Amino acid sequence: MVDHDGAARMELTPEEIREEDGSYLVECPACGTPTTLMKVMESGHCAGADDDVGCTAELALELVWSE
Ligand SMILES: [Zn+2]
Repeated sequence: MVDHDGAARMELTPEEIREEDGSYLVECPACGTPTTLMKVMESGHCAGADDDVGCTAELALELVWSE
């Protein structure tokens, strides 16, 4: 689980999200590996965590709003 207080943050814009085979991908800010949003939400890691990259970054998505 991501330590939200100590974590770095970035706002996602449409330019940073790309579609591939019906999935939406973002580049991991730590290692640059393209990773589906679903993978981030389900595993908390990028696709690079499962291959040679061995990325150890913990990732989470959040929605931010105000009323
Ligand atoms: Zn990564």
